Amino acid sequence: MVAQRAREVELSLLRRMFEGAPPDAINLGLGEPDFDPPKVVLDALCEAVRNGQNHYGPSAGLPALRSKVAESYRDRDPSTAVENVLITGGGSEALMATALAMYDPGDEVLVPDPGFVLYAPHARLAGAVPVLYDLDEKHGYRPDLDSLAQHLSPRTRAIVVNSPSNPTGGVFDSTTVDRIVAFAEEHDLSIVSDEVYDTMVYDGKFASFWGRSDRVVVVNSFSKRLCMTGWRLGFLVAPRAVAVEINKLHYHMMACPSTPAQAAALAGLSAGPNVSAPMMREFRARRELVVRQLNRIPGLTCTKPAGAFYAFPRFGWKGGSTEVAMSLLKRGLLATPGEAFGPLGTSHLRLSFAASRDSLRRGLAILRDYGEAAS
Ligand code: PLP
Repeated sequence: MVAQRAREVELSLLRRMFEGAPPDAINLGLGEPDFDPPKVVLDALCEAVRNGQNHYGPSAGLPALRSKVAESYRDRDPSTAVENVLITGGGSEALMATALAMYDPGDEVLVPDPGFVLYAPHARLAGAVPVLYDLDEKHGYRPDLDSLAQHLSPRTRAIVVNSPSNPTGGVFDSTTVDRIVAFAEEHDLSIVSDEVYDTMVYDGKFASFWGRSDRVVVVNSFSKRLCMTGWRLGFLVAPRAVAVEINKLHYHMMACPSTPAQAAALAGLSAGPNVSAPMMREFRARRELVVRQLNRIPGLTCTKPAGAFYAFPRFGWKGGSTEVAMSLLKRGLLATPGEAFGPLGTSHLRLSFAASRDSLRRGLAILRDYGEAAS
Protein backbone atom coordinates (compact mmCIF):
# COMPACT_ATOMS: atom_id res chain seq x y z
CA MET A 1 0.00 0.00 0.00
CA VAL A 2 2.83 2.41 0.71
CA ALA A 3 5.40 4.02 -1.56
CA GLN A 4 8.96 2.81 -1.83
CA ARG A 5 10.27 5.99 -0.24
CA ALA A 6 8.21 5.33 2.88
CA ARG A 7 9.35 1.70 3.02
CA GLU A 8 12.96 2.64 2.60
CA VAL A 9 13.27 5.58 4.94
CA GLU A 10 14.36 4.50 8.40
CA LEU A 11 13.01 5.72 11.68
CA SER A 12 16.29 6.77 13.25
CA LEU A 13 17.99 4.31 15.58
CA LEU A 14 18.01 7.13 18.07
CA ARG A 15 14.21 7.44 18.13
CA ARG A 16 13.78 3.68 18.28
CA MET A 17 16.03 3.42 21.34
CA PHE A 18 14.29 6.33 22.94
CA GLU A 19 10.86 4.81 22.38
CA GLY A 20 11.98 1.36 23.61
CA ALA A 21 13.57 2.56 26.86
CA PRO A 22 12.10 1.43 30.19
CA PRO A 23 10.35 4.37 31.91
CA ASP A 24 12.69 4.34 34.93
CA ALA A 25 15.92 4.37 32.87
CA ILE A 26 18.27 7.30 33.42
CA ASN A 27 17.99 9.18 30.20
CA LEU A 28 21.22 10.67 28.89
CA GLY A 29 19.93 10.30 25.36
CA LEU A 30 18.02 13.56 25.28
CA GLY A 31 18.56 15.99 22.44
CA GLU A 32 16.79 18.87 24.14
CA PRO A 33 17.43 21.17 27.09
CA ASP A 34 16.01 19.95 30.39
CA PHE A 35 14.91 23.53 31.13
CA ASP A 36 11.56 25.24 30.64
CA PRO A 37 11.33 28.11 28.19
CA PRO A 38 12.24 31.47 29.81
CA LYS A 39 9.30 33.13 31.60
CA VAL A 40 9.07 35.92 29.04
CA VAL A 41 8.60 33.28 26.35
CA LEU A 42 5.99 31.32 28.29
CA ASP A 43 4.07 34.50 29.06
CA ALA A 44 4.14 35.59 25.43
CA LEU A 45 2.79 32.24 24.27
CA CYS A 46 -0.12 32.34 26.77
CA GLU A 47 -0.88 35.92 25.89
CA ALA A 48 -0.85 35.17 22.16
CA VAL A 49 -3.24 32.25 22.59
CA ARG A 50 -5.59 34.28 24.83
CA ASN A 51 -5.48 37.27 22.50
CA GLY A 52 -6.66 35.36 19.47
CA GLN A 53 -3.34 34.67 17.70
CA ASN A 54 -4.61 31.20 16.91
CA HIS A 55 -4.99 31.33 13.17
CA TYR A 56 -2.99 30.77 10.01
CA GLY A 57 -0.32 33.31 9.24
CA PRO A 58 1.93 33.94 6.23
CA SER A 59 3.75 30.79 5.11
CA ALA A 60 7.14 32.53 5.38
CA GLY A 61 6.36 33.53 8.97
CA LEU A 62 5.19 36.64 10.79
CA PRO A 63 6.96 39.73 9.38
CA ALA A 64 7.87 40.96 12.88
CA LEU A 65 9.69 37.74 13.70
CA ARG A 66 11.38 37.51 10.29
CA SER A 67 12.53 41.06 10.74
CA LYS A 68 13.91 40.36 14.22
CA VAL A 69 15.79 37.32 12.93
CA ALA A 70 17.16 39.34 10.01
CA GLU A 71 18.32 42.01 12.45
CA SER A 72 20.16 39.37 14.48
CA TYR A 73 22.08 38.27 11.34
CA ARG A 74 23.23 41.76 10.34
CA ASP A 75 26.43 41.40 12.34
CA ARG A 76 27.35 38.66 9.81
CA ASP A 77 25.99 40.41 6.71
CA PRO A 78 24.70 43.99 7.10
CA SER A 79 22.39 43.57 4.10
CA THR A 80 20.39 40.71 5.67
CA ALA A 81 16.70 41.54 5.26
CA VAL A 82 13.26 40.06 5.94
CA GLU A 83 13.32 38.47 2.48
CA ASN A 84 16.28 36.33 3.48
CA VAL A 85 14.42 34.74 6.39
CA LEU A 86 11.79 31.98 6.52
CA ILE A 87 10.22 30.77 9.75
CA THR A 88 9.84 26.99 9.71
CA GLY A 89 8.49 24.03 11.65
CA GLY A 90 11.71 23.61 13.58
CA GLY A 91 15.15 23.15 12.12
CA SER A 92 13.97 19.71 10.98
CA GLU A 93 11.43 21.05 8.54
CA ALA A 94 13.86 23.75 7.43
CA LEU A 95 16.36 20.99 6.57
CA MET A 96 13.74 18.97 4.66
CA ALA A 97 12.42 21.98 2.73
CA THR A 98 15.99 22.98 1.88
CA ALA A 99 16.83 19.47 0.65
CA LEU A 100 13.70 19.34 -1.51
CA ALA A 101 14.36 22.78 -2.94
CA MET A 102 18.07 22.35 -3.59
CA TYR A 103 18.86 18.74 -4.55
CA ASP A 104 17.87 17.15 -7.84
CA PRO A 105 17.51 13.39 -8.28
CA GLY A 106 20.93 11.84 -8.77
CA ASP A 107 22.81 14.72 -7.14
CA GLU A 108 25.39 13.84 -4.54
CA VAL A 109 25.37 15.62 -1.21
CA LEU A 110 28.32 15.56 1.18
CA VAL A 111 27.12 14.84 4.72
CA PRO A 112 29.21 14.51 7.90
CA ASP A 113 30.06 11.18 9.52
CA PRO A 114 29.34 11.24 12.37
CA GLY A 115 26.53 13.70 11.81
CA PHE A 116 22.96 14.53 12.73
CA VAL A 117 20.49 11.81 11.76
CA LEU A 118 18.35 13.76 9.28
CA TYR A 119 20.92 14.84 6.68
CA ALA A 120 21.34 11.57 4.79
CA PRO A 121 17.64 10.52 4.82
CA HIS A 122 16.61 14.01 3.67
CA ALA A 123 19.02 13.79 0.75
CA ARG A 124 17.58 10.39 -0.16
CA LEU A 125 13.98 11.63 0.13
CA ALA A 126 14.89 14.36 -2.35
CA GLY A 127 16.20 11.64 -4.71
CA ALA A 128 19.82 12.58 -4.09
CA VAL A 129 22.68 10.39 -2.88
CA PRO A 130 24.31 11.18 0.48
CA VAL A 131 28.08 10.78 0.43
CA LEU A 132 29.66 10.62 3.87
CA TYR A 133 32.74 12.67 4.74
CA ASP A 134 34.81 11.99 7.84
CA LEU A 135 34.89 14.09 10.94
CA ASP A 136 37.92 12.87 12.79
CA GLU A 137 38.44 13.33 16.50
CA LYS A 138 42.15 14.02 15.80
CA HIS A 139 41.13 17.13 13.83
CA GLY A 140 38.76 18.35 16.54
CA TYR A 141 35.90 16.89 14.49
CA ARG A 142 36.47 19.46 11.77
CA PRO A 143 36.40 18.39 8.13
CA ASP A 144 39.76 17.63 6.58
CA LEU A 145 39.65 19.34 3.21
CA ASP A 146 42.02 16.88 1.52
CA SER A 147 39.80 13.96 2.39
CA LEU A 148 36.72 16.01 1.49
CA ALA A 149 38.07 16.48 -2.03
CA GLN A 150 38.31 12.70 -2.43
CA HIS A 151 34.53 12.46 -2.18
CA LEU A 152 33.83 14.86 -5.02
CA SER A 153 32.31 13.77 -8.29
CA PRO A 154 30.80 15.69 -11.20
CA ARG A 155 27.42 15.11 -9.49
CA THR A 156 28.35 16.69 -6.17
CA ARG A 157 25.83 19.45 -5.55
CA ALA A 158 26.10 20.50 -1.92
CA ILE A 159 27.83 20.04 1.39
CA VAL A 160 26.02 19.89 4.72
CA VAL A 161 27.96 21.24 7.70
CA ASN A 162 27.05 21.43 11.35
CA SER A 163 28.86 23.52 13.95
CA PRO A 164 28.49 23.19 16.91
CA SER A 165 27.94 19.56 16.08
CA ASN A 166 25.46 17.01 17.23
CA PRO A 167 26.82 14.48 18.17
CA THR A 168 30.50 15.45 18.53
CA GLY A 169 30.29 18.86 20.20
CA GLY A 170 32.96 20.03 17.72
CA VAL A 171 32.98 23.71 16.76
CA PHE A 172 34.53 25.20 13.59
CA ASP A 173 36.79 28.19 13.99
CA SER A 174 36.62 31.04 11.53
CA THR A 175 39.53 29.71 9.45
CA THR A 176 37.79 26.35 9.01
CA VAL A 177 34.60 28.09 7.90
CA ASP A 178 36.56 30.19 5.38
CA ARG A 179 38.32 27.09 4.04
CA ILE A 180 35.03 25.23 3.56
CA VAL A 181 33.55 28.26 1.80
CA ALA A 182 36.59 28.45 -0.51
CA PHE A 183 36.27 24.71 -1.20
CA ALA A 184 32.56 25.08 -2.03
CA GLU A 185 33.26 28.03 -4.33
CA GLU A 186 36.06 26.20 -6.10
CA HIS A 187 33.86 23.16 -6.74
CA ASP A 188 30.60 25.01 -7.34
CA LEU A 189 28.79 23.52 -4.31
CA SER A 190 25.99 24.92 -2.20
CA ILE A 191 26.49 24.94 1.56
CA VAL A 192 23.73 23.93 3.96
CA SER A 193 24.94 25.04 7.37
CA ASP A 194 23.02 23.69 10.34
CA GLU A 195 23.66 26.22 13.12
CA VAL A 196 20.96 25.23 15.60
CA TYR A 197 23.48 25.21 18.48
CA ASP A 198 25.04 28.58 17.59
CA THR A 199 24.28 30.06 21.02
CA MET A 200 25.90 27.12 22.82
CA VAL A 201 29.65 27.53 22.47
CA TYR A 202 31.94 27.12 25.52
CA ASP A 203 35.41 27.46 24.02
CA GLY A 204 36.28 30.02 21.40
CA LYS A 205 33.79 32.01 19.38
CA PHE A 206 31.00 30.80 17.14
CA ALA A 207 31.73 31.30 13.42
CA SER A 208 28.67 31.40 11.16
CA PHE A 209 28.69 30.61 7.44
CA TRP A 210 26.25 33.44 6.80
CA GLY A 211 27.80 36.49 5.16
CA ARG A 212 30.82 34.63 3.77
CA SER A 213 29.35 33.47 0.47
CA ASP A 214 26.16 33.77 -1.55
CA ARG A 215 25.86 30.00 -1.81
CA VAL A 216 24.92 29.41 1.82
CA VAL A 217 21.64 28.41 3.45
CA VAL A 218 21.77 28.60 7.24
CA VAL A 219 19.32 26.42 9.14
CA ASN A 220 18.56 27.42 12.69
CA SER A 221 15.97 26.83 15.39
CA PHE A 222 14.29 28.25 18.45
CA SER A 223 14.12 24.74 19.93
CA LYS A 224 17.37 24.65 21.83
CA ARG A 225 18.08 28.32 22.51
CA LEU A 226 14.62 28.97 23.97
CA CYS A 227 13.92 25.42 25.24
CA MET A 228 10.79 25.18 23.12
CA THR A 229 11.46 21.93 21.28
CA GLY A 230 7.82 20.86 21.57
CA TRP A 231 6.50 24.01 19.92
CA ARG A 232 8.26 23.18 16.67
CA LEU A 233 9.68 26.45 15.49
CA GLY A 234 12.85 27.17 13.57
CA PHE A 235 14.07 29.34 10.76
CA LEU A 236 16.42 29.56 7.86
CA VAL A 237 18.43 32.35 6.30
CA ALA A 238 19.11 32.12 2.57
CA PRO A 239 19.83 34.28 -0.45
CA ARG A 240 16.54 35.96 -1.43
CA ALA A 241 15.97 34.02 -4.65
CA VAL A 242 16.68 30.73 -2.88
CA ALA A 243 14.37 31.65 0.02
CA VAL A 244 11.53 32.17 -2.47
CA GLU A 245 12.01 28.64 -3.82
CA ILE A 246 12.40 26.99 -0.40
CA ASN A 247 9.27 28.79 0.75
CA LYS A 248 7.23 26.97 -1.91
CA LEU A 249 8.26 23.56 -0.56
CA HIS A 250 7.80 24.78 3.00
CA TYR A 251 4.27 25.96 2.14
CA HIS A 252 3.38 22.56 0.74
CA MET A 253 4.61 20.80 3.85
CA MET A 254 3.10 22.95 6.57
CA ALA A 255 1.14 25.90 5.12
CA CYS A 256 2.57 28.15 7.80
CA PRO A 257 4.46 27.87 11.08
CA SER A 258 2.62 28.00 14.41
CA THR A 259 1.34 31.54 15.01
CA PRO A 260 1.42 31.63 18.84
CA ALA A 261 4.84 29.96 18.93
CA GLN A 262 6.12 32.77 16.70
CA ALA A 263 4.81 35.40 19.10
CA ALA A 264 6.68 33.59 21.88
CA ALA A 265 9.91 33.32 19.87
CA LEU A 266 9.73 37.02 19.08
CA ALA A 267 9.51 37.82 22.80
CA GLY A 268 12.43 35.49 23.45
CA LEU A 269 14.64 37.04 20.77
CA SER A 270 13.69 40.54 21.87
CA ALA A 271 14.75 39.74 25.44
CA GLY A 272 18.35 39.27 24.24
CA PRO A 273 20.93 36.57 24.88
CA ASN A 274 20.77 36.91 28.67
CA VAL A 275 17.52 34.93 28.82
CA SER A 276 19.51 31.73 28.36
CA ALA A 277 22.49 32.70 30.55
CA PRO A 278 21.46 30.59 33.59
CA MET A 279 21.02 27.51 31.39
CA MET A 280 24.37 28.05 29.71
CA ARG A 281 26.11 28.46 33.08
CA GLU A 282 24.65 25.15 34.18
CA PHE A 283 25.58 23.38 30.91
CA ARG A 284 29.14 24.65 31.25
CA ALA A 285 29.42 23.29 34.80
CA ARG A 286 27.91 19.95 33.78
CA ARG A 287 30.29 19.70 30.86
CA GLU A 288 33.23 19.86 33.28
CA LEU A 289 31.68 17.28 35.57
CA VAL A 290 30.81 14.86 32.76
CA VAL A 291 34.11 15.03 30.89
CA ARG A 292 36.12 14.67 34.11
CA GLN A 293 34.13 11.61 35.20
CA LEU A 294 34.13 10.01 31.75
CA ASN A 295 37.90 10.17 31.51
CA ARG A 296 38.17 8.27 34.81
CA ILE A 297 36.22 5.30 33.46
CA PRO A 298 38.43 2.40 32.33
CA GLY A 299 38.36 2.03 28.55
CA LEU A 300 36.81 5.45 27.87
CA THR A 301 38.32 8.67 26.59
CA CYS A 302 36.45 11.88 25.97
CA THR A 303 37.59 15.13 24.36
CA LYS A 304 35.90 18.18 25.75
CA PRO A 305 32.98 19.27 23.57
CA ALA A 306 33.47 22.91 22.58
CA GLY A 307 29.75 23.44 21.97
CA ALA A 308 26.19 22.00 22.13
CA PHE A 309 25.35 19.74 25.11
CA TYR A 310 26.72 16.34 24.16
CA ALA A 311 29.77 14.37 25.20
CA PHE A 312 30.94 11.88 22.59
CA PRO A 313 33.35 9.52 24.39
CA ARG A 314 35.23 6.79 22.55
CA PHE A 315 35.35 3.33 24.12
CA GLY A 316 37.82 0.52 23.67
CA TRP A 317 35.48 -2.23 24.90
CA LYS A 318 34.33 -5.25 22.96
CA GLY A 319 31.36 -4.80 20.63
CA GLY A 320 29.90 -1.98 18.59
CA SER A 321 28.09 1.02 20.02
CA THR A 322 24.60 -0.44 19.62
CA GLU A 323 25.60 -3.55 21.52
CA VAL A 324 27.18 -1.47 24.28
CA ALA A 325 24.17 0.88 24.43
CA MET A 326 21.81 -2.11 24.68
CA SER A 327 23.83 -3.54 27.59
CA LEU A 328 23.75 -0.15 29.28
CA LEU A 329 20.00 0.06 28.77
CA LYS A 330 19.61 -3.26 30.59
CA ARG A 331 21.54 -1.70 33.47
CA GLY A 332 19.21 1.29 33.46
CA LEU A 333 21.10 3.89 31.39
CA LEU A 334 19.92 5.27 28.10
CA ALA A 335 22.96 6.40 26.10
CA THR A 336 22.82 6.90 22.36
CA PRO A 337 25.00 4.58 20.27
CA GLY A 338 27.49 6.57 18.21
CA GLU A 339 26.73 4.57 15.08
CA ALA A 340 23.25 6.15 15.00
CA PHE A 341 25.19 9.11 13.56
CA GLY A 342 27.19 7.18 10.98
CA PRO A 343 29.75 4.39 10.72
CA LEU A 344 32.54 6.46 12.30
CA GLY A 345 30.51 6.63 15.50
CA THR A 346 30.75 2.92 16.06
CA SER A 347 33.18 3.12 19.00
CA HIS A 348 31.43 6.07 20.59
CA LEU A 349 28.46 6.79 22.80
CA ARG A 350 26.64 10.09 22.84
CA LEU A 351 25.75 11.28 26.31
CA SER A 352 23.64 14.37 26.65
CA PHE A 353 24.32 16.65 29.57
CA ALA A 354 20.87 18.16 29.20
CA ALA A 355 19.95 16.14 32.30
CA SER A 356 20.03 16.97 36.00
CA ARG A 357 23.32 16.63 37.87
CA ASP A 358 21.73 13.82 39.87
CA SER A 359 20.85 11.91 36.67
CA LEU A 360 24.32 12.57 35.33
CA ARG A 361 25.97 11.20 38.49
CA ARG A 362 23.78 8.10 38.56
CA GLY A 363 24.13 7.52 34.82
CA LEU A 364 27.91 7.90 34.95
CA ALA A 365 28.05 5.45 37.88
CA ILE A 366 26.30 2.83 35.70
CA LEU A 367 28.77 3.55 32.92
CA ARG A 368 31.70 3.24 35.32
CA ASP A 369 30.47 -0.14 36.59
CA TYR A 370 30.11 -1.28 33.00
CA GLY A 371 33.57 0.02 32.08
CA GLU A 372 35.18 -1.73 35.07
CA ALA A 373 33.55 -5.03 34.12
CA ALA A 374 34.32 -4.67 30.40
CA SER A 375 37.98 -3.60 30.68
N1 PLP B 1 19.95 20.05 13.70
C1 PLP B 1 20.60 19.45 14.72
C2 PLP B 1 22.09 19.35 14.65
C3 PLP B 1 19.89 18.94 15.80
O1 PLP B 1 20.55 18.36 16.81
C4 PLP B 1 18.48 19.05 15.81
C5 PLP B 1 17.71 18.46 16.91
O2 PLP B 1 18.16 17.68 17.69
C6 PLP B 1 17.86 19.70 14.73
C7 PLP B 1 18.62 20.19 13.70
C8 PLP B 1 16.38 19.88 14.64
O3 PLP B 1 15.85 20.50 15.73
P1 PLP B 1 14.39 21.17 15.68
O4 PLP B 1 13.63 20.51 14.58
O5 PLP B 1 13.80 20.90 17.02
O6 PLP B 1 14.63 22.60 15.44
